[in-house]
Amino acid sequence: MRTSRISGFYNLPMDERLKIVREFAGLTDEEVEVLREGKLPREVADHMIENVIGLYSLPFAIATNFLINGKDYLIPMVIEEPSVVAAASNAAKMARDSGGFEAEATDSIMISQIQVVKVPDLEEAIRRIMAEKDKLIAAANEMDPLLTRLGGGARDLEVRVVGTEAGPMLIVHLLVDTLDAMGANTVNTMAEGLAPTIERLTGGKVYLRIISNLADRRLARAKAKFSKAAIGGEEVVEGIMWAYRFAKHDPYRAATHNKGIMNGIIAVALATGQDTRALEAGAHSYAARSGKYTTLTNYWVDDNGDLWGSIELPLAVGTVGGVVRVHPIAKIALKILGVEKARELAMIMASVGLAQNFAALRALATEGIQAGHMKLHARNIAMSVGASPSEIDEVVERMIRERKINVERAKQILEEMRSGKKA
Ligand code: NAD
Repeated sequence: MRTSRISGFYNLPMDERLKIVREFAGLTDEEVEVLREGKLPREVADHMIENVIGLYSLPFAIATNFLINGKDYLIPMVIEEPSVVAAASNAAKMARDSGGFEAEATDSIMISQIQVVKVPDLEEAIRRIMAEKDKLIAAANEMDPLLTRLGGGARDLEVRVVGTEAGPMLIVHLLVDTLDAMGANTVNTMAEGLAPTIERLTGGKVYLRIISNLADRRLARAKAKFSKAAIGGEEVVEGIMWAYRFAKHDPYRAATHNKGIMNGIIAVALATGQDTRALEAGAHSYAARSGKYTTLTNYWVDDNGDLWGSIELPLAVGTVGGVVRVHPIAKIALKILGVEKARELAMIMASVGLAQNFAALRALATEGIQAGHMKLHARNIAMSVGASPSEIDEVVERMIRERKINVERAKQILEEMRSGKKA
């Protein structure tokens, strides 16, 4: 059976891990080679952005154990920070014990904004725009016949009045279902195309015509139960609840809480070729939607004393368009996920964000975050001096116990172990 529950994955050599992923996802020899070498052709890079002089590589890792809506996923993550992948896998394992993540996502509705200033009569302008609403929507759809044919396109139009120190502005929102595209190019084109008509209808002057990254009509949600028994007992549950309340009520803590969520989400976003800045902007502006910046996750305890977590945030991600189409590794990452639809990708990313957040809260509420980091550091050192998979744990444990985490000590411990001496 195809399962993402793989124990000891982290202990395997890189090529062994790659072999498992290859089998899981049915990767071709060529895809394996592209991934192994982290290949991005220079000519592709040269066409992606301006003034290119070289390439920049980051580790591509896999988080294991994810079960989302009953389906097993291996999660590709690209990130420079240690502990993130291990934490996600660990949290996913605990959630898996109670059935994994339940996730959902809305349609891919993006908002395109048209800013109109110096409108002579606001009420009359709004009346005229609303009277022409259906024609405006139809005109927008003519600008992207492919999207319309696929079942997406402009859906609705709204008008807001926003006061400024220089007088009111009329802000027109065009709501567009961009299906599997992130949608920025799509909706920007529509806003620019509608602008002359909007100017004529309102008698005002149009300045900006651009997507809003506060994609609050394009939300992804995930929820999971972390049973008291699986996560370490009542005291751990209580500690996590206090950590959550801290973030919910204090923006200083909420910023770091949400940063932890984005550790997971952005790592998947980088692997799959998403616009990470758009995702960050969407997440943090959504976290401040009430006027007070707060958490993107919620936690509660049920009658059995088990912990539940949930997350809701905008996730404007694409499986077509943008970089996804051109970056060979982004395409492989989507293949590993087995995902073709943007909504499914958003559900996965929401689940990873929740897993990441839960893992951070659990660590913070118990041993503190540094212990995990030091363990990973010690593990890297043990491996660097040649400890085999069966020796690593003991070398790590002894270095941590002695508070001597360095290459010299690791070598000595390994020699002692191999010559039969005990701690
Ligand atoms: P795109 O224009 O490359 O692709 C979208 C188009 O693909 C659609 O308009 C449609 O015609 C076509 N398409 C084919 N199959 C489709 C399907 N199944 N679902 C949906 N569309 C399908 O890309 P995009 O997603 O419109 O734009 C994304 C890019 O815009 C990103 O690279 C992003 O960095 C960039 N961008 C972002 C911002 C911002 O976030 N503020 C601003 C400008 C540009």
